[in-house]
Amino acid sequence: MHPMQCPACKDEVLVTLELHDIEVDYCTGCRGLWLDAGELELLFGDRGMAEGFLHAGATTAEEAPRKCPICNTQMEQHTTDGAHAVTWDGCPHDDGLWLDHGELGAILQHGSDAPGGETIAASLRAMFPAESA
Ligand SMILES: [Zn+2]
Ligand SMILES: [Zn+2]
Repeated sequence: MHPMQCPACKDEVLVTLELHDIEVDYCTGCRGLWLDAGELELLFGDRGMAEGFLHAGATTAEEAPRKCPICNTQMEQHTTDGAHAVTWDGCPHDDGLWLDHGELGAILQHGSDAPGGETIAASLRAMFPAESA
């Protein structure tokens, strides 16, 4: 697969990081993260847990729209609930999702409240130390 362009910076190419057998695409320019749909489930352990972390509430369009680095379709914005709400961009064709720098940290903070969430949040914080609040 040819390198993906960063959906936020556009002129930067995403680099692939391999962490515990999970591939994450990372932008060295803006430090955003792209997670493929399948990688997301691996990252959180299962789909239910991923949904618990990413629970989408009402969409607030505060961020500039981004295009999916895989299919180039404009992504949909989703906002988590919780005290540290995060707006993330998801491909409407389920290719994956984009997190700006710091958003994973906020999602982990929110997801830690879910049953079993604290263990996953702790291992993800160890994988992404820069995202720890
Ligand atoms: Zn970028
Ligand atoms: Zn897509």
